[in-house]
Amino acid sequence: MSWFKRLKEGIQTATKNKKETPDGLWHKCTRCNMLTTVKDLREHLYICPKCDYHTRISSADYFDILFDGKYTRLFDEIVSVDMLDLKMSSHMKTDLLAI
Ligand SMILES: [Zn+2]
Repeated sequence: MSWFKRLKEGIQTATKNKKETPDGLWHKCTRCNMLTTVKDLREHLYICPKCDYHTRISSADYFDILFDGKYTRLFDEIVSVDMLDLKMSSHMKTDLLAI
């Protein structure tokens, strides 16, 4: 049963000496659990290289793909108006105004 014992000394690394992996460096595919770096996932346009799963991305990431990061947002101050005067609770209105 020698394969259960560590034969060579010095292989174990103390916890204080282990390097932490930075957050956001790796991505795990939702469908096939394959690990890829976020950089590789971006290069594949957020599609898993193993199973072709399309990872959900933000609108900013989608705009970067569409326009190669060269776009300008216009009319940021525009706010939707309740043209139908829908009945809603007061906390919903405050939530809408907060957006
Ligand atoms: Zn996958």
